[in-house]
Amino acid sequence: MTVRPPRPLPKILLLVALSGGCAQLAATVPGSSLDAGSPMYLHAWDGGDDPAALERWVHVHIDRADADIAKLTAVEGARTAQNTLRPYDDAFNELTFATSQASVLYGVGATKELRDKAQALTQTANAALTALSLNPAVYHALTAVPTPADAATRHYLERTLLEYRLAGVDKDDATRAKIEALQDRITELGLAFERTVHDDVRTVVVDKGQLGGLPPDYLAAHLADARGQVRITTDPPDAWPAEKFADSAELRHKVSLAAESVGYPANEKTLRALLETRAELAHLLGYATWADLAMADQMMGSPAKLRDYLKQIDSASRESAAREDAALLAFARERDPSLKQISAADARYWQEQYRRAKFNFDSQSVRPYFPYAEVERGVIASASRLFHVDIRPVSGVHTWHPSVTTYDVYDGKSRLGRIYLDMHPREGKDKWFSTQQLTAGVLHRQLPEGALVCNFPGGRAGDPGLMQYGDVVIFLHEFGHLMHHVIGGQNPYAGEGGFNVEGDFIEAPSQMLEEFFHDYGVLSSFARHYQSGAVLPQELYARMNRADTYGRASGQQRQLLYTSVSLDFHTLPPATLDFDAVYRRDFERFSSFAFVPGDHQWASFTHLNGYSSNYYTYVLDKVIALDFFAQFDPRDLLGGPAGMRYRQTVLAPGATQPATQLVHDFLGREPNLEAYQRWMRAEFDDAAATASSAAR
Ligand SMILES: [Zn+2]
Repeated sequence: MTVRPPRPLPKILLLVALSGGCAQLAATVPGSSLDAGSPMYLHAWDGGDDPAALERWVHVHIDRADADIAKLTAVEGARTAQNTLRPYDDAFNELTFATSQASVLYGVGATKELRDKAQALTQTANAALTALSLNPAVYHALTAVPTPADAATRHYLERTLLEYRLAGVDKDDATRAKIEALQDRITELGLAFERTVHDDVRTVVVDKGQLGGLPPDYLAAHLADARGQVRITTDPPDAWPAEKFADSAELRHKVSLAAESVGYPANEKTLRALLETRAELAHLLGYATWADLAMADQMMGSPAKLRDYLKQIDSASRESAAREDAALLAFARERDPSLKQISAADARYWQEQYRRAKFNFDSQSVRPYFPYAEVERGVIASASRLFHVDIRPVSGVHTWHPSVTTYDVYDGKSRLGRIYLDMHPREGKDKWFSTQQLTAGVLHRQLPEGALVCNFPGGRAGDPGLMQYGDVVIFLHEFGHLMHHVIGGQNPYAGEGGFNVEGDFIEAPSQMLEEFFHDYGVLSSFARHYQSGAVLPQELYARMNRADTYGRASGQQRQLLYTSVSLDFHTLPPATLDFDAVYRRDFERFSSFAFVPGDHQWASFTHLNGYSSNYYTYVLDKVIALDFFAQFDPRDLLGGPAGMRYRQTVLAPGATQPATQLVHDFLGREPNLEAYQRWMRAEFDDAAATASSAAR
């Protein structure tokens, strides 16, 4: 997608054993006993907003994991998958409950007290996960399991053993203790880094006369006070339209600078400590850098291979990006001849103006067709049709906040899982867009559940929540993750779920679903004017799609910028790493816009916690996603046979096969750059643009 703001992509929150937790299994909280039949078994929020109830809940799951581990290690006689891999997976499942739900409440909990407790418990639960990943008795028991006959179980066992070795299970006692302590510190620092960002909402005060260019519903939601002043926060629904539409350069710069200062300077110390601890752990495990360790079990394999791959992506996108940027600068100079270079703070504004002039497309003109509630209905209906599932609202479900909506996902009559949508900003809530696992799926035993945690417009009385079309694309992106989790969560083991596949495949199903935005059949099924009810006119749609082809190559260059920051921060010596200088150098390598002094975006780049060195995932998976999408019939995207084939070969296997196998099975060959290059060239190639926007 092109009109995505120049910020990193939405993310998925992953449980990565490597970034797990601390020294020993947490002590049991007195009085914490719940049995399997207890209604509090599934959900951490069932105890309300009481931090003590959350603590009890998390410890019940940690205790259960302990019991599973004890059962596993007590086995006498021959090891089998049933008496060893199964209890291992049961323990993993219990710790997945604890880590994922504590982590969700850390981002969305109703009160500060609850979020504080959830943060501490995320750490505790991750510590238990780390302890499991370094437990030599469990490892040796797993190595004694005979090679399973079926390929899926064999793959799961082999992959589990690989993760054990990477975690350092075969080191001596003292080294393992050191590893656990470092993992604990990594979890703590990562959580602190993100928490600073969640809590750091900045507000810019501007004169109401500076709001020219902003849409009427935005103005209605931003009334001036008695002194004629308007407050704009750095929350995405507030800041993004201001940076894109406001005619006042002063306002754009103020908002942009506030947004790029979030987390700064508080996170400087935290980030340095995080990177130092990661580097120390990598060295202890025999790796030159953290990036070498973090890529060892990924499709990519190593930073050296990544650098080769990035060269290909750079050469595929650099020239087109330069052409796009030159056209933009020439356009801006027609309006302002004194302009030498476009400031990064003005980039989104000028891109919008350019699209208006060159493609006769004003992105405000489509916002009235994307009121939040209709979009939610439309995304769900489209995904249902594509993946051959039925997604039905469920009422009366108690969740962590009254605004959360709940749906069940069915395959015919059988329920596949449950999803929760928490879609609008709140004070203290996580500020980004992510998909999070709540429960893992275990075939015939436990259904997968997942949540979207987003910050879209709307959610307030009287606010229709008119979305920018880039917001709709983000919604589709996150829904792609959610479907991967639910459809991929129907395997015999919890550890075989969709989110347990190699981390650098995880952004393929999400980015693949983004492409469905470009189909008129899909859009016209839900894009209706929030006042008149009129369907998005086909002619307006065609202009939007055409305008959207502009900026794809420079968008990919921007992804290379984030990829490089993520890689450089995890390969350069952390003690002497100058964050501002490296960030600026990478910025200037991949962007033609003028760097804005005071831009410390790295301080709120929360992907540095979850993805660490591996932000490249987005670039690698964009290539795969476009190759996947090219297999669908453009004349019948949702109804053709490719949807079911994709569901069966890519999503349903979850982590039962290597990701490269999933890709090969769907494509029938290795992935290549052809579809990716075609997609980037579309702007310069009328024929291709027309073909890709063909109505159903
Ligand atoms: Zn994602």
